[in-house]
Amino acid sequence: SAQQTPGDRLPRYVRVNTLKTSVGDAVDYLKRDGFSYLGQALKLDNLTLKNKQFVMDLHLPELLVFSPKTDFHDHFLYKAGHIILQDKASCLPAYLLDPPPGSHVIDACAAPGNKTSHLAAIMKNRGRLFAFDLDGKRLATMSTLLLRAGVACHQLANQDFLKVDTNGPQYKDVEYILLDPSCSGSGMVCLRDDSAAHPEVEKARLASLASFQLQCLNHSLRFPRLKRLVYSTCSIHSQENEEVIAACLQQNPNFRLVPLLAQWPERGLEPLPQCLRASTTKTLTQGFFVALLEKVCDAGSIKE
Ligand code: SAM
Repeated sequence: SAQQTPGDRLPRYVRVNTLKTSVGDAVDYLKRDGFSYLGQALKLDNLTLKNKQFVMDLHLPELLVFSPKTDFHDHFLYKAGHIILQDKASCLPAYLLDPPPGSHVIDACAAPGNKTSHLAAIMKNRGRLFAFDLDGKRLATMSTLLLRAGVACHQLANQDFLKVDTNGPQYKDVEYILLDPSCSGSGMVCLRDDSAAHPEVEKARLASLASFQLQCLNHSLRFPRLKRLVYSTCSIHSQENEEVIAACLQQNPNFRLVPLLAQWPERGLEPLPQCLRASTTKTLTQGFFVALLEKVCDAGSIKE
């Protein structure tokens, strides 16, 4: 039989898709379906659940938590797009970006689109959501997923984000960007491979990913009306996380870090405690990193 991995012991997280239902209705449906609801979790320990029990998460609204390996793939709520199967850490970026309904938003590296559908839910399907990805196959999957989730405010483009014209008239009102670029995936416990490549090969791969990630960040910050940007990876390497952010801030002094969720138990490595990290041990999630940048209004400029 297959070996147990830490991923098999993580809680099963379910995001309620508020474009299709409400948390109350989803909870009622699940109760009628034989699950037992224990209310809102008050501490991390409350996320360790037995079969058929579930709670509301303590950090993120609209997130329900079940025992490890609870399988929803054949469940009505999943097939109807009422729930999205998404790790808790990967719900942080859209939640923290928090674009208001009606705003114009870019999801720079979007496929397969779980964060895009989360953004659309937060925007209540109002405004514009430009989603890019280089990979046509992943975009096709994404189309199906967004349709099932009832997302209606998006525009998908099979395009290299680095080649998107930041001065294009269609992007003139973009104030929010979610940037979740390709990374090593070293935080994904199901993918973690200890029989790692030759250290030199691994080093070169990380350096090339970090350089791509920094290019994406610098490109994002050129959109003229940008106010806030969330950067995230499912990597545990500081080279793809804190080091990329630090380099970006140095090159873009008109942006600063926003301190995130004081109650979150795991912080970015020094000197960037404003950022969040996530891990199997400290947050009961996949390994993850999130930073939120905001534009600094320079003193000389005219206020809106
Ligand atoms: N945000 C997605 C989600 O939550 O479902 C996951 C994104 S995944 C970490 C990174 C994506 O970036 C991949 O789908 C990859 O095809 C895409 N990508 C890589 N290079 C790109 C580029 N230059 N422009 C746009 N997308 C790119």
